[in-house]
Amino acid sequence: MRLFAWLAPGAGPPDPRGYFSQQEAGRGALWGAFWGAGRGCRKGGFSRRDFKAGFQGGAGVVAGAGNYRCGQGLAAERIKARHMAIERTLSIIKPDATRRNLTGKINAKFEEAGLRIVAQKRIFLSLAQAQKFYEVHKDRPFFGELTEFMASEPVVVQVLEGEGAIAKNREVMGATNPANADDGTIRKEFALSVGENSVHGSDAPETAAEEIAYFFSGLELVG
Ligand code: ADP
Ligand code: MG
Repeated sequence: MRLFAWLAPGAGPPDPRGYFSQQEAGRGALWGAFWGAGRGCRKGGFSRRDFKAGFQGGAGVVAGAGNYRCGQGLAAERIKARHMAIERTLSIIKPDATRRNLTGKINAKFEEAGLRIVAQKRIFLSLAQAQKFYEVHKDRPFFGELTEFMASEPVVVQVLEGEGAIAKNREVMGATNPANADDGTIRKEFALSVGENSVHGSDAPETAAEEIAYFFSGLELVG
């Protein structure tokens, strides 16, 4: 029964890329061999049609093998894409850094790490805007100090894009407290203190999406 089911013509539409599936190829080869052998027997020799049927069967096998390889390639690409997703994250160059004219040096760090600055603007946050942005920290003892600092001088808000951009940006930034930051990170090189630590970066895909939408409209994200 299984063999008959396998031999039956496939119900689904042909592959949109024009490939035979392995099953189709196998079926073609088997039918080609049957048909060719039967005709050969009755007529005492292979006709041109028999040859064609056999040939199509053979071609089916080759196409099947090709399709199998192609399928493997596509699967590998899908796995690769899943592991190296292009992400966007929100970054802020904080007042301590804009005051010291460090925007270009900090941007160079992002670009050296493979992050693209796909949107950027210099703005002066009001206290209310800073409080709304850092709402998640409203019960922390440093909330007043943090929001007043963020509203004290201009900041540069930007969208960074790249493979694993959210985690990569956190790596490039370094630990919150510059005393604990690794060598070569932005905070190690430029931060003044745990509060005045030069940069902000989103910490997860959900917060990245929310924070980007807080500062940028879709029209400002041109890629
Ligand atoms: P990060 O910016 O590394 O994600 P947090 O989200 O924990 O760090 O904190 C937000 C910001 O609040 C920090 O970047 C820093 O400016 C400030 N901050 C955090 N901890 C302190 C602290 N102990 N004292 C003063 N400011 C702090
Ligand atoms: Mg944070």
